[in-house]
Amino acid sequence: MGEQNKQVQLKNFNRRSVLGYIRKNGAATKAGLSAATGLTFMAIKKILEELEELGLIRCDAMEKTNVGRHALTYVINEDYRYTIGVHINKFATRVALLDLRGHILRVERCGMEQAFQNQSDFVETILTAIDKVIAEANVRKEDILGIGVGAPGPIDMENGVILTPPNMPFLNYLPLREVMEERIGCKVYLYKDTNAIAFGEYWDGEGKQASDLIYIDVDMGIGSGLIIDGKIKVGANSIAGEFGHITIDVNGPLCNCGNRGCLEAMSSGIAVLKTLSGQLEKEETHPLYPKRKELVIEDVFKMVEKNDLLTISILNQSAHYMGIAISNLINILDPQMIILGGILIQNYPRYFQIAKTVANSKKVKGARENVMCVSVLGETAGVIGAGEIVADDFFNRTVNEVFPKNSGTQEQI
Ligand SMILES: [Zn+2]
Repeated sequence: MGEQNKQVQLKNFNRRSVLGYIRKNGAATKAGLSAATGLTFMAIKKILEELEELGLIRCDAMEKTNVGRHALTYVINEDYRYTIGVHINKFATRVALLDLRGHILRVERCGMEQAFQNQSDFVETILTAIDKVIAEANVRKEDILGIGVGAPGPIDMENGVILTPPNMPFLNYLPLREVMEERIGCKVYLYKDTNAIAFGEYWDGEGKQASDLIYIDVDMGIGSGLIIDGKIKVGANSIAGEFGHITIDVNGPLCNCGNRGCLEAMSSGIAVLKTLSGQLEKEETHPLYPKRKELVIEDVFKMVEKNDLLTISILNQSAHYMGIAISNLINILDPQMIILGGILIQNYPRYFQIAKTVANSKKVKGARENVMCVSVLGETAGVIGAGEIVADDFFNRTVNEVFPKNSGTQEQI
């Protein structure tokens, strides 16, 4: 590598660090950036000028410093371009238009209750929602940088295909990336749903202060997303984070994946429904007995409200297994933060409490006490994360694409 090339790479690394810090913190002063990146005040000043000239950042309000002076703060120029985030879930697909600071400008919820008959109906519904949020926000279509999609796994990331999502079989082998790119004409990023949620938590949620985090989705299925050093960890074959299929009990119930006693077969919404249905066979006087073969998760939450001990004990048992699984995760990865979300966490707060107590009791000594928390973004984390995937790629590419052209000068940054 030539000397000049190395210098360009180093400068671009610094530019990305500055942009990354401003994005992660929402706003930054020159002094704050200098302290965070280790670059000189002058170097920071120069990078900020370049980024401002490009329109990527802008000066915001003055911030009072601790020595009483006022300092300029810099923020991402939110209206420079826009992103679209799509989050596909068994119950609803959400489509949002976001600015470059990750704010949701418009969001559209497409109910999945009607159980789509075919893939093309489903794709049309998403495309119509995208057109709608763009039109309502009065944004030019050419200002959309791309579309991030979080879809149920497993995903073939290389080819942009949804493979065989166990809880949404009508999506089997849908080449969503290609279909959408052809119709909309901008870049589509297809990621596993839990990776998108984890990224949303990292940029705008509970994980805002963290550089590493794990998100665990405790929904009808169980999934997870792993963020390390601000990047989504997809693994060598893009299947990292299949947390739902770690074995809890080798003789346990059969899982959708074909193995026995997976976490998903013991702690997910589907597992709760299966166990409840089985137990109801012996409980002819239980109010859910007549419905035992066609239970839905709402039935479970309604029974919890009525203090039904059968349902509560099944949920608590599920949470207990989840705690065991999380203790293993803590012992292997020693993560900064584990965020739990999903339908069981949102609707049954004791699930989190039990899982946390069990995880704490089983983790090795020395591991941090309070690594677990509940997602506050909830259902919006998925669209925010999907939009941030587009924004992240945009900022990284822009730095690399724009600056080599200007790199003839030898000034030190
Ligand atoms: Zn499994």
